[in-house]
Amino acid sequence: MTIFSKIIAGEIPSYKVAEDDLFYAFLDINPVAKGHTLVVPKQEVDYIFDQSDAMLSAHTVFAKRVASAIKKAIPCNRVGVAVMGLEVPHAHIHLIPLNSEGDMDFRKEHLKLSPEEMQEIAASIAANFE
Ligand code: AMP
Repeated sequence: MTIFSKIIAGEIPSYKVAEDDLFYAFLDINPVAKGHTLVVPKQEVDYIFDQSDAMLSAHTVFAKRVASAIKKAIPCNRVGVAVMGLEVPHAHIHLIPLNSEGDMDFRKEHLKLSPEEMQEIAASIAANFE
């Protein structure tokens, strides 16, 4: 079971942003920007392109809805999209509010946000999710 499956099962806490039958979105615990969100399929699959065409499409469309909520909740020029999966073998799309190219640099020092701030960010994105 991956750490993300444990999060989806509620065994590990997360700052939930959105959910439906197939997907779960929550804040990245080590964010590169305020509002950095991960969108994962509930079904455990390692690599994003291992998903069926239908699941990949649905994953992307769900991420689109989450990105729209992020854009409304967090002032930014764009919501960047990234897929790496070098750390956690459970397909996930990173959505990252961007104002400049450097905001998507995963090597720079990540933000240290308090649990209260994380909770507040998650709630404001969730409130804008449609
Ligand atoms: P990668 O697999 O390379 O895309 O990186 C995995 C991402 O998952 C990193 O950005 C981590 O900060 C994030 N991450 C790992 N564990 C958790 C967790 N328990 N809750 C939220 N995000 C996590």
